[in-house]
Amino acid sequence: MARHGKHKDTPESVTPRRKANYSVSAGDAFLSDTYDTGSYHRIEAAPVSPEPVPPKKKRKWLWPLLLAVLLAAAGITAAVLLRSAGTQSTPVRKNVSVSMTDLNGDSCMRVTFLDVGEADCALIQCGGEAMLIDSGNYADLSYVKQTLQSLGVTTLKYIIATHPHEDHIGCMGGLIRAFGVETLYAPSAEYHSDSTCFDVMNEALAELGKSITVPRANETIRLDSAELTFLSAGKTYENTNDTSLVARLRYGETVFLFTGDIEWDAEHDLVEAGIDLSADVLKVPHHGSASSSSYVFLYQVMPRYAVISVGRDNEYGHPDSDVLSRLRDADAAVLRTDELGTITCFSDGTALVWSFSGSDLSE
Ligand SMILES: [Zn+2]
Ligand SMILES: [Zn+2]
Repeated sequence: MARHGKHKDTPESVTPRRKANYSVSAGDAFLSDTYDTGSYHRIEAAPVSPEPVPPKKKRKWLWPLLLAVLLAAAGITAAVLLRSAGTQSTPVRKNVSVSMTDLNGDSCMRVTFLDVGEADCALIQCGGEAMLIDSGNYADLSYVKQTLQSLGVTTLKYIIATHPHEDHIGCMGGLIRAFGVETLYAPSAEYHSDSTCFDVMNEALAELGKSITVPRANETIRLDSAELTFLSAGKTYENTNDTSLVARLRYGETVFLFTGDIEWDAEHDLVEAGIDLSADVLKVPHHGSASSSSYVFLYQVMPRYAVISVGRDNEYGHPDSDVLSRLRDADAAVLRTDELGTITCFSDGTALVWSFSGSDLSE
């Protein structure tokens, strides 16, 4: 689904995509990337490249599952992103009821962006296995722990600690003690700063007889049938944010890009290294800070959806209005935890379904 290998030229020569290349067919209820107001439509982008497209996986048996879940309506109010077929700039939302409790099977991948305020925490579940990318702040421990438990997590196969700032590893030690972990990845085994969180994380790992694993560039790990690859331009940075582990998660044809808090330097190094950054969903770097999400970077990623993990009324003014403007120019639908609460994305390998925990949604 992501547009691999495109936009490798200079930003000036990049043609904005998805202008009028849409074909609309009615009848595909619910499991759609995008929706039209009033009734659900599947809207698929027409091919924009002569590159061979791998055959889509047929997962028709997923439909009854999702329908059953919808009918079960366990009471969690969620919302599905609606985007009108004619305009790409303004997402339209509509409330629906959907259960998010019974999708732990191997029929889809679930990515949950927890509402941890001005911090990052994402849970990926696939085929009964779970991976956590960042933990939120120290104060988020009970919330994150309860949320993971409510989502059926009993143990974590992988943890990715993108970088050692408190808003990313604040409660990592507590989560390691609560759930255990097979492998914890971090950009470095050392952190030359007075960080209790980093020390506690290491202590918790040591209690399991483990220590930090620093991934190799392009190392790929598997979470059941999902695949995550660590991306690196092979540079070193003084700025801790720029040291963030960047990872590209693929499930079928759907791709997510996790970026920690990388800023301008790391973004440009990744672009200049010619690494494929294209993704359907971008976890926007550094909570929407103006020092990240440069045009050069966004034109390589070209996300259809941009998730910003950000605190309501935060003291940093995140997300920056310039970043929101750049994301608009990149034609990405912006999804913010401060507005939508916990943001969940289901992928069946070809299509994405979104749901939100926030109750303040209105059209
Ligand atoms: Zn940071
Ligand atoms: Zn951060």
